[in-house]
Amino acid sequence: MSTYSRLPVTFERGAGAWLWDNAGKQYLDAISGVAVCGLGHAHPAVADAICAQARTLVHTSNLYGIAKQQQLGEQLTRLAGMDKAFFCNSGAEANEAAIKLARLYGHNKDISLPTVVVAEGSFHGRTLATLSATGSRKVQAGFEPLVRGFLRVAYNDLEALHNIAKNSSGVVAVLLEPVQGEGGVVIPDDDYLAGVRALCDQQGWLMMLDEVQTGMGRTGRWFGFQHSSVTPDVITLAKGLANGVPIGACLARGAAADIFKPGNHASTFGGNPLACSAALAVIATLEKNQLIARAAELGERMVTALRARLTQCDGAECKLTSGIRGRGLMIGIELDRPCGELVGKALERGLLINVTAERVVRLLPPLILSDAEADRIAETVAELVTDFARAEQA
Ligand SMILES: *Cc1c(COP(=O)(O)O)cnc(C)c1O
Repeated sequence: MSTYSRLPVTFERGAGAWLWDNAGKQYLDAISGVAVCGLGHAHPAVADAICAQARTLVHTSNLYGIAKQQQLGEQLTRLAGMDKAFFCNSGAEANEAAIKLARLYGHNKDISLPTVVVAEGSFHGRTLATLSATGSRKVQAGFEPLVRGFLRVAYNDLEALHNIAKNSSGVVAVLLEPVQGEGGVVIPDDDYLAGVRALCDQQGWLMMLDEVQTGMGRTGRWFGFQHSSVTPDVITLAKGLANGVPIGACLARGAAADIFKPGNHASTFGGNPLACSAALAVIATLEKNQLIARAAELGERMVTALRARLTQCDGAECKLTSGIRGRGLMIGIELDRPCGELVGKALERGLLINVTAERVVRLLPPLILSDAEADRIAETVAELVTDFARAEQA
């Protein structure tokens, strides 16, 4: 079905940060399948794990014990400071699990119409509950009636959240991204998550963070919340978790970890041996090669280069650039006007980028970039914005 207006290119093979199309043309990948292939393409450790597991056991269902799922749960809860994990197959499903968990938490407290607070500009997925939680009319339009039980608040606005605490009843949880991805790489103030945590503690709300895009080292820490001083009750993961093998996870700690009882939630494929083997290989590789620290270093390198070219000059390109934001390898270059055409222009030059929220060039390159590859991405993006600015001026 025509759910995508696709770019005119088809890739045949990849290696590291590079892709080749069916005419043999080479592209540098600064989007990683939308924050999925953090280890780049065809990573040997992941390929070996998938092959070995495929030759051993692909799937048995969650009716039985799954050793690889157990191991993955232990690794993820260790890294995130959580207690338990539920596995599914995508980001939307991970958020569905979190939303169900929050509702059940409310019903267990005799709140008959539990409400989850969500943010303007957020993105949580395309299923009915997650598109209802998403703060974008474009995602929702045409799919009403929306799922009830969400209350919207401005992002990065603690006062607005405090007003909800004062004026609304039935709130059981907040669901937020630590950095808004689709919303335009929006980074909240340093004290925002700590403020959310304090209010959640005071009100008895669950603090739930959608780490589907920010997770698995992308921001220069294992998880986005680790840039703050606090730990949420629930986090959701997917995208980068298994480098392209579909998987999602909902992690929880404390009381939140014991809300689901047998029969409350399920997934046929979720956490099967194949997907979990790939995810275990991702975690082992990120740790062995110290790629989380490397993501932080690369992100700083790229943002510094981009700022030097696009904000610290008198040229048209600097007038057009209204801000450059980055947390690790989640980088947004905000322009003062819609710039979707840059995606096609970059493609012609052999670079894969993305434009989100209409005016924000978004870069989500793999964590395995060399310095030279990082410099090349920054250089090409700066050239693209410069050419765009001059054309707009003319
Ligand atoms: C991509 C994304 C999702 C949805 O993930 P799917 O795997 O496409 O369902 C949810 N939340 C955030 C923050 C995302 O970036």
